Amino acid sequence: MSLLQHSIDSIRTGLLAKKFTAAELALEALAYAQTENPKTNAYLTFSPERAMATALEVDKRIAAGEDPGALAGVPIAIKDVILTKGVRTTCASRLLASYIPPYDATAVTRIERAGGVILGKTNCDEFAMGSSNENSAFGPVRNPVALDRVPGGSSGGSAAAVAQGTAVLALGSDTGGSVRQPASFCGIAGVTPTYGRVSRYGLTAFASSLDHIGPFARSVRDSATLLEVMAGRDEMDATSAFAPVPDYTAALDGNVRGMTLGVPREYFDGLEGETVHLIHQAIEVLKSLGCQIRDIELPHTAYAIATYYVIATAEASSNLARYDGVRYTMRAASETLGDMYRLTRGEGFGAECKRRIMLGTYVLSAGYYDAYYLKAQKVRALIARDFAQAFEQVDAIVAPVSPFPAFKLGEKIDDPVAMYLSDIFTITGSLAGVPCMSVPCGATREGLPVGLQVLARHFDETAMFRVADAYQRASNP
Ligand code: GLN
Repeated sequence: MSLLQHSIDSIRTGLLAKKFTAAELALEALAYAQTENPKTNAYLTFSPERAMATALEVDKRIAAGEDPGALAGVPIAIKDVILTKGVRTTCASRLLASYIPPYDATAVTRIERAGGVILGKTNCDEFAMGSSNENSAFGPVRNPVALDRVPGGSSGGSAAAVAQGTAVLALGSDTGGSVRQPASFCGIAGVTPTYGRVSRYGLTAFASSLDHIGPFARSVRDSATLLEVMAGRDEMDATSAFAPVPDYTAALDGNVRGMTLGVPREYFDGLEGETVHLIHQAIEVLKSLGCQIRDIELPHTAYAIATYYVIATAEASSNLARYDGVRYTMRAASETLGDMYRLTRGEGFGAECKRRIMLGTYVLSAGYYDAYYLKAQKVRALIARDFAQAFEQVDAIVAPVSPFPAFKLGEKIDDPVAMYLSDIFTITGSLAGVPCMSVPCGATREGLPVGLQVLARHFDETAMFRVADAYQRASNP
């Protein structure tokens, strides 16, 4: 059974009215996801035992008259860079093709505690490095909206599963755009929370100062509920924030009258075609809902990509050093210790990871550290200051997510720089650590979805959700 008609609410209502049990829903959802998966390659691993165990627990709670939890019985897919105890977690890398984690990520623990049913693990770019999901060791993911196109990356499998109806919700990870960009390409909602809002415990590290776990859903409301379940301080991650987690959905009444929205000039310079047209239409809708629209400037935007690819590769080169054939990974046949490192890493990592390890090692090396890495950190601070200054004047910022809709498989794979430019509008928010999301804002004449990006102040996900939800209600009543 396709899950496209289901939301968190519809499942809760169905369960409480005894129309179906969580176990029945989980069985049907698993069967459907397994049959449909060959079309997109969105899932890498299914976790039927785990799904059924949680579903039966939910049914037991309902039978006992207890609260079954905010995500009771809701089928969820988890990006395969997020650890699941006893369930294979590959990071879409040959190195970890048979890695079984001994513990759960905090986000996963909190989801299951709230009754969420984990159907399986989703395909992605290797170690979350990419913008098209073509860097997976287990084959690319296809966009369910147009099967000859990419779903975006790196969390392409999670976005595809939700868009395809083989999951109601999914988790992705976003370092420079990997939740928002695939959400926009697949026509669903995708959220990058404030840095520190969701614990990174159990999220495989790519670039630790930029990594976020973020939710995918078809509606803004469902993405807000999922974030609320996961958010909040966790003793296991020292960078997780103590900030209290508001009741996000309580604020979603569709009323945004009087909110001031900033439109950053730099995001529209030279942007042409249907994407910019759809973004302008969305801004008109928000205006008609009573928002004040104001032009703003984020002057350091032009340096974001360069800054990101210095900082992210530097951190990645260090984080990926642990995959050496000693622990976690497969081990290449070798005679000496040096050969073991060399051959395991040489055979195990794909081309994009190797490119980043080399670049990251270079920018951190003696003599270049000040020129590249330290410089990039300074520019990052300027980019964050741009946002802080903008948020003195506006409640939220609206902008495109990607300069273009989903491109064809293979179109950019041989041109890494063109691929890096896919994230030109998402990387700034990641560098600043502000909450940002993609909400669907229509499709091109060819039927390719386009996303509107909404960004807000640190820890003010509520403002971001209010704008995105009001827009979604008005544009798709
Ligand atoms: N596409 C960007 C990259 O390749 C962002 C990836 C991400 O957010 N995980 O690094």
